[in-house]
Amino acid sequence: MLQIKRFSWRELQTATNNFSEQNVLGKGGFGKVYKGVLPGPDSKKVAIKRLFEVGSPEGEMAFLREVELISIAVHKNILRLIGFCTTPTERLLIYPFMENLSVTSRLRDIGLNEPILDWTTRMMIALGAARGLEYLHEHCNPKIIHRDVKAANVLLDGNFEAVIGDFGLAKMMDMGRNTVTTGVRGTMGHIAPEYFKTGRPSVKTDIFGYGVMLLEIVTGERAIFPDFLEGAGEVMLIDQVKLLMQEGRLEEIVDRNIGCGYDFQELVKIIQVALLCTNIDPCQRPAMSEVVHMLEEKIVPEDQWEEWQQAELTRRQQYENKQHHKLFTFSEESLNIYEAVELSGGR
Ligand code: ATP
Repeated sequence: MLQIKRFSWRELQTATNNFSEQNVLGKGGFGKVYKGVLPGPDSKKVAIKRLFEVGSPEGEMAFLREVELISIAVHKNILRLIGFCTTPTERLLIYPFMENLSVTSRLRDIGLNEPILDWTTRMMIALGAARGLEYLHEHCNPKIIHRDVKAANVLLDGNFEAVIGDFGLAKMMDMGRNTVTTGVRGTMGHIAPEYFKTGRPSVKTDIFGYGVMLLEIVTGERAIFPDFLEGAGEVMLIDQVKLLMQEGRLEEIVDRNIGCGYDFQELVKIIQVALLCTNIDPCQRPAMSEVVHMLEEKIVPEDQWEEWQQAELTRRQQYENKQHHKLFTFSEESLNIYEAVELSGGR
């Protein structure tokens, strides 16, 4: 294990003032997160994740194996694990504290006097997160699949550098269970259609989640939001973006907080990257290294984009034909398949 410290329960109690509610940073699908300060000359600030599902005592070995796996991932854009703690009833993970919290909180929970994330910072975050995922997928051995890529899981350090957190956790939680689960873990609106079908996560399902995350960053919206026009039901952010693009109203998707402070050409490119990443066909999604290249160079290969447009047109025509002949039942390709699955819930 690479410089991972095993903390005692007592040390963590001291760091969090006995897990005081005042130190709670938030609650996610895996557990509660506390802010803590480690004793020592530098009073290092940490985020302590106290997992909900401890599982069986035998699960401890699996937990430790996963901790070891997570600990091999060391990259500027990946949240480093500092340590862990296990007791018969508790399992905790200790990470460095990220001063600017999560991308979601910076997009949606900004206080009156807090600055908004400007366009350049958002583009920097998109690239940083892409580099982090590229590292997990293409440079770690064994490769690491995140399983829940979304803006809420991208944290921001003091310089607003994107740092991906929560990777490996979904697997860890599944392993801690007594039964093998084929349930889908993830968050509404971010889950790739084929993951629903097979229950099998892959680098391609992460890439789909990344594409949705790009749309969250540009729009400031949630991946799924209530349909205000119809007054009922929900709208998928991807569908909304596709519609506005089709109608030539792309500028309307940009977060209003940004106003005119963005580059239109850059907007077009980032939306194209997002749509390539969320291609219904996983084989057609670019690898993260390709995404990094596209974002760095601000270039989307024309042939890839034309192929995407052609496939989208065919899909839409097929859908319309089915509607027309009233033969449409339940298309596996439809994105509206978010039912009867285990989800951590849209946030
Ligand atoms: P889910 O677990 O379902 O993905 P989530 O990502 O919102 O949901 P957590 O990752 O558990 O939940 O995080 C809960 C809260 O703690 C979030 O508001 C997040 O910003 C904050 N947080 C998590 N890790 C850190 C960290 N290292 N530094 C600062 N804040 C953190």
